Amino acid sequence: MKKHVVILGGGLAGLSCGFELVQRGHRVTILEREAHVGGMASSFIEDGDEYWTQDFGPHRFHSQDKNLIEHVKEILGDNVVTAQRLSRIVLFNRFFDYPLVASNVLKNMPRLMLVRAMLDYLWVRFLDATRLRKFTDIDFESWVTRRFGRTLYRVFFGQYTEKAWGMPPSQISADWASQRITLLSLWDTIKKTLARPKAGDTPRTLVRSFIYPKFGGIGELARGYARRIEESDTGSQVLTNSPAVKVLREGMRVVGIEYGKHTRQLIEGDEYVSTIPVTSLAKALAPKAPAEVQTAADSLDYVSIVFVYLKLNRPTVSPDSWVYLPEKHLTIHRISEFKNFSPHSAPKDKTLICAEITCRRGDEIWRASPEQLQAVAEKDLISVGLIQPGQVLGATLRKIPFAYPVYDLKYRGHLQPVMEYVGKLEGIHTTGRQGNFRYNNMDQSVEMGRKLGIELATGQSTDHSKVATGKEYFG
Ligand SMILES: Cc1cc2nc3c(=O)[nH]c(=O)nc-3n(C[C@H](O)[C@H](O)[C@H](O)COP(=O)(O)OP(=O)(O)OC[C@H]3O[C@@H](n4cnc5c(N)ncnc54)[C@H](O)[C@@H]3O)c2cc1C
Repeated sequence: MKKHVVILGGGLAGLSCGFELVQRGHRVTILEREAHVGGMASSFIEDGDEYWTQDFGPHRFHSQDKNLIEHVKEILGDNVVTAQRLSRIVLFNRFFDYPLVASNVLKNMPRLMLVRAMLDYLWVRFLDATRLRKFTDIDFESWVTRRFGRTLYRVFFGQYTEKAWGMPPSQISADWASQRITLLSLWDTIKKTLARPKAGDTPRTLVRSFIYPKFGGIGELARGYARRIEESDTGSQVLTNSPAVKVLREGMRVVGIEYGKHTRQLIEGDEYVSTIPVTSLAKALAPKAPAEVQTAADSLDYVSIVFVYLKLNRPTVSPDSWVYLPEKHLTIHRISEFKNFSPHSAPKDKTLICAEITCRRGDEIWRASPEQLQAVAEKDLISVGLIQPGQVLGATLRKIPFAYPVYDLKYRGHLQPVMEYVGKLEGIHTTGRQGNFRYNNMDQSVEMGRKLGIELATGQSTDHSKVATGKEYFG
């Protein structure tokens, strides 16, 4: 029997799930809050006298799974280039390779600081080995300090993390470090930069080449899925500007969704998939979830990001796909240059830089005007010598409200009751980055979405909920 599945969220998880369902003849309706599909992997195209594309920061698609890469290439058709990734850190007005390369650190670091870093590292190793000091591994600061020593922690990890999260690293759970830092210690960094990794065993952070759409930015992937869903003969639809507002339930069974910006409509399906933030799902239930579940959902936080796009009157800024700017005196923490993803992303003689600033919804940065943030980004980039005065032609601003789930020291305690309650709901399945409150990359959201779609279409269980649950799944 063919089903009608209502999917909340038109990001990569929702779209890839819908794609697998329509491939098998089922009907899907995707409800997307924004005016465009793609979620965090969206792109914006300016196609007037000149052609420009903007992504939400750097988006590099990578997977060890060759079938997944082939699948993505199939969705993109012949609109693909292979890009070479270069990413560096600007510190002390010098470029450091990222991921850290021991020889490059040795060459670039101020001598005195280098000696201190070595002594610190040896001291920490001594304290750890002799158990003279008990490292808890509970928070980010202690996790990294134990593995890299105090100086390297402070210079390369601490100040960047504090900026990117907008909170002290001692308040961030070590779960995040163990998931995101592929190079597990200073010694591991030295080994991995000296030894050539085995074929197919290269950690994500060390992978150099990646595929990217030739035109249209990373959002082409989402647009490719949406096109195929709508062109299928299943009567499926992708409805943009259609936020899910209420998730109606009878007992624990979900029976319908109320959606719409100005006027509300009701949609009913045989099954439902949610890829929207799990906190939003928990709070949209009608009748409401128990008070303790709502309180727990309210206690889970997300980092928001403001993206300042600067059009520049110069062909390029650097060869880097992205550059980290950890220093405290700078407000922006990372820039990306889309021309280094696809040369067609900007006119030949000009380029576009995307500068990221972390904030929280409603704070001063979130509310700042494009002019104010252009001034901030321009000043920062001039001060580190990446651009010169007078080169900015104009700026645009975009925002992601729910960018990074905040793994503070209490998040597990808050997440557990929310996931447990949502897990008990019948007829609805949560997946994707937001649905799981996880740090998925795009390939993981696509893999989860596809697996769930296949499971719903065929009735055969897949391990969709196990995707991206390993200890070192990000890198
Ligand atoms: C700055 C940045 C850089 C990144 N770089 C990379 C990278 O280099 N490589 C990589 O692989 N990954 C990267 N990622 C991660 C990648 O963007 C995500 O893993 C992926 O896009 C998540 O897809 P998703 O569908 O799971 O979630 P989302 O993209 O968040 O999709 C959820 C969708 O639900 C919609 N929604 C929310 N509420 C509602 C509602 N009430 N009703 C209807 N719709 C709703 C949202 O608008 C959104 O479209 C990056 C992320 C960020 C923020």
